[in-house]
Amino acid sequence: MKLVHTIKEVRTQVKEWKKQGLTVGFVPTMGFLHEGHESLIKKAVEENDKVVVSIFVNPIQFGPNEDLEKYPRDLDKDSKLCQGAGAELIFNPEPAEMYVNHAATFVEVEELTNGLCGEKRPGHFRGVCTVVSKLFNIVNPDRAYFGEKDAQQLAVIKKMVNDLNLDIEIIGCPIIREEDGLAKSSRNTYLSAEEREAALVLSRALNKAKEHLFSGEKDASKIKEVITSEINTEKLAKIDYVEIVDSEILKPVNSMDSSSLIAIAVYIGKTRLIDNFTWRIS
Ligand code: AMP
Repeated sequence: MKLVHTIKEVRTQVKEWKKQGLTVGFVPTMGFLHEGHESLIKKAVEENDKVVVSIFVNPIQFGPNEDLEKYPRDLDKDSKLCQGAGAELIFNPEPAEMYVNHAATFVEVEELTNGLCGEKRPGHFRGVCTVVSKLFNIVNPDRAYFGEKDAQQLAVIKKMVNDLNLDIEIIGCPIIREEDGLAKSSRNTYLSAEEREAALVLSRALNKAKEHLFSGEKDASKIKEVITSEINTEKLAKIDYVEIVDSEILKPVNSMDSSSLIAIAVYIGKTRLIDNFTWRIS
């Protein structure tokens, strides 16, 4: 496995593979990798001849008061995880490699970014879509893998790829959780022992919602109430949002149907965590 830092090195390697007729899978990440990222890499390895992982903490997707500076980083550990999972190339650029001075071109997906994290984190998806477009242009993959953990991001990237006629298949991968139910996240590392315990309220609230769904409750406002009151039992938790939307267009729904997404964002102390559940009935 190779670790490279420049766009030129990625292009040279990928061109070489493409000349040999090999397919390329791509997993974009911000590093500090865990089993959630690993599951994406392993799926990409299964489905492609070669796999590229990018590790880049993208400054333009962080708001002014967010955690860009303290975002956790560990390139050695990440390299080992990528190698173990079967990736062939890590692209780890410096911000200056990705952003020339005075860049004036950004990619913005409208409507789908109006609610949920898009509403709470202005500019976030503009930053995500811009960097993902740039990475797609650099890596030129056949397939790219994204976690359902970031359900809005997955829907937005699918829409962007469709709208811009990018010839890349976007594959969503299930949420990987800790044994006690907490969705794995690089940001879990910010939690103190007490907050780590409190963070279980996210998956617990979603599980309560599931119980109500499975016993026939279809009213979205009732399901939201179940979630809200469960989260409010935890004194370290502060709700950022609890929403039920259509999983593709991300517009709020009144009644649960075959593809409703329950998405929540909750502060545990100062750490903002997200989780979700998609109600799929075939
Ligand atoms: P990040 O490094 O947080 O930007 O995440 C990179 C990719 O890994 C995104 O597509 C995330 O949705 C995905 N991811 C992060 N956490 C998980 C998880 N617990 N399960 C599945 N995918 C995940």
